[in-house]
Amino acid sequence: MARLIFLGPPGAGKGTQAKVLAELLAIPHISTGEILRSAVAKATPLGQKAKDYMEKGELVPDELLLDLVRDRLNQPDAHNGWILDGFPRNVSQASFLDSLLQEMNQTCECVNLEVPDEVLVARLLGRGRSDDTPEAIRTRLDIYHKETAPLIGFYRERSTLRAINGDRPLEEVTESLKR
Ligand code: AMP
Repeated sequence: MARLIFLGPPGAGKGTQAKVLAELLAIPHISTGEILRSAVAKATPLGQKAKDYMEKGELVPDELLLDLVRDRLNQPDAHNGWILDGFPRNVSQASFLDSLLQEMNQTCECVNLEVPDEVLVARLLGRGRSDDTPEAIRTRLDIYHKETAPLIGFYRERSTLRAINGDRPLEEVTESLKR
């Protein structure tokens, strides 16, 4: 049974690797960024609230995400495990997830994909997503270092945290993750 949190900066390859691994393990890949992008594309109430934050590279407010994550982890397809990609992004989201998993009598493990900032910027600029402008990239990296990176310590204390060098060819990273 795998319940995995993928930590790591924007552009580290979390989405790509999570997709591959989730398919191998036959568990859902749950990306809050993808859920939000799809809500924006469909202009749902959630999408309308999230859009401006996302374009600027800021985090959307926690309250838009907490119920959404709780509901998603309670879906039948998540009973045999999951990979969370892009959540939690700050200590308050991590505490929420901690209590949610306790309620559900579940534990999880954490993978930290490590990639140096200069490599990230080059990757993100090459990706061409609408929030991959130089300005939004700078904001996302700043927020990552201030709000998300502290979760490395949080998970080191609470559960298994494994660091994986993400600055390698895609297939090599996948091999490390499988191991
Ligand atoms: P991602 O696809 O993970 O890079 O997320 C894209 C954007 O969606 C982020 O820059 C945030 O604006 C928003 N987002 C995704 N996940 C979260 C989260 N857990 N908390 C707050 N905002 C999020």
